[in-house]
Amino acid sequence: MKSQLKPTIAVIGGGAAGVFAAIHASYNGRYKVVVFERSSKLLSKVKVSGGGRCNVTHACFNNGVLVTNYPRGQRELAGTFSQFTTSDTVRWFENRGVHLKTESDGRMFPSSNNSETIIECLLREAEKCGVHFFLQHTLSNIFCINDKFHLKFNAATLEADKIIVAVGGYPQLSQYAWLQNLDIEIIRPVPSLFTFNIKNSVFKGLEGVVMEQASVKIQNSNFIMEGPVLITHWGLSGPAVLKLSAFAALWLADVNYTFNIILNVMAPNKQDVVRQMLLNLKLTESKKVANTKFANLSSSIWLRYCTMVNAEDKYWSDISNQTINKLAELLTGFVMAIDGKSVNKEEFVTAGGVNLKQINHKTNEHKSIKGLFFAGEVLNVDGITGGFNFQHAWSSGYIAGIHASMPENPL
Ligand SMILES: Cc1cc2nc3c(=O)[nH]c(=O)nc-3n(C[C@H](O)[C@H](O)[C@H](O)COP(=O)(O)OP(=O)(O)OC[C@H]3O[C@@H](n4cnc5c(N)ncnc54)[C@H](O)[C@@H]3O)c2cc1C
Repeated sequence: MKSQLKPTIAVIGGGAAGVFAAIHASYNGRYKVVVFERSSKLLSKVKVSGGGRCNVTHACFNNGVLVTNYPRGQRELAGTFSQFTTSDTVRWFENRGVHLKTESDGRMFPSSNNSETIIECLLREAEKCGVHFFLQHTLSNIFCINDKFHLKFNAATLEADKIIVAVGGYPQLSQYAWLQNLDIEIIRPVPSLFTFNIKNSVFKGLEGVVMEQASVKIQNSNFIMEGPVLITHWGLSGPAVLKLSAFAALWLADVNYTFNIILNVMAPNKQDVVRQMLLNLKLTESKKVANTKFANLSSSIWLRYCTMVNAEDKYWSDISNQTINKLAELLTGFVMAIDGKSVNKEEFVTAGGVNLKQINHKTNEHKSIKGLFFAGEVLNVDGITGGFNFQHAWSSGYIAGIHASMPENPL
């Protein structure tokens, strides 16, 4: 690359952030933009994302609200999203012929329901801009010599004037060694967005049932989330559990994923309110307890709780106040032991990565290594499920690409 007339920007990683950064780095034509990808495929996570549909972003158009969906990076992302936010993502894809539709929960997908639409759009744009791709090139080290970056790959060492690091999240700290060699501080990587395992769950046989208005609290902590909870073969999943796994990711790693949760399937109602609801039924209802529709609990969940207090065959009038108290206690504060975690196949990410303190968030450039930019999950930023992780990839890719391709950094 030494003999080229144009200076070079090397983008490391051909995922969402890397490809988006490369496209934006090439728009002004000042640099030759080259993407190095270690695998034989570009955008492989985009392909499998959202169950093959790619949840591109989230229909949240207020940046103040948007940032609350990121357990790590919340403060810094206010600046990031002020440059490129969800509406910019929607417009960017629309302008290139990809319409995004919004589902009832706010997730946005291509109206084709096919992640290939997103991949084709990105690669078409990259080709139009003259971005060069080198597959099966794994970067193993970077040296800075005389204002140039020397990039060590499997077989070759190449030179670049600027670098955008967009390698995603690595599960092991040791995999960040080549960044640590540059004195870049890495926050310990831990998984985020996982489901909870339960041995001998009381909900066995109810797999697939959703408790629509639940809350899950981690015992002996302040972490609590409200939302639907899904019973799975291994334990519990669903929005409330996934969100909890994200916000408590570091805490849960520290206890090696062995902890207790307190499950309230009547959220936001507390024990006293539920007790009163049950007492009212005892006074007014002539049916058997198990045959009653209780709040918005599914009949199978309600039956399971009735069975826990031996009330499944009884009439309301035969239920003692003691049993009512026990039932109210279980419905609103059932303590369950969690024994490990499982991968959420829909979406998982790495919490941790490059310490945000070292980054200028107006440009995504390293504060002391000029010409070194970052984008995507390699940064210590992660979002909850719903399109927030890709939104960060687009926004940070945009910023890194635009600012890396400026002749000099005016900010
Ligand atoms: C199964 C699954 C489904 C998901 N679904 C969604 C979803 O629907 N919506 C959403 O918002 N988020 C989703 N996510 C999260 C989202 O995919 C990531 O947050 C996003 O891909 C991060 O983009 P990135 O470019 O930073 O990293 P990546 O997509 O991980 O890309 C990094 C690239 O860098 C390459 N690389 C790594 N090291 C090197 C090296 N040393 N040299 C060269 N190349 C290297 C990797 O091979 C990879 O191609 C999902 C994640 C998973 C695992």
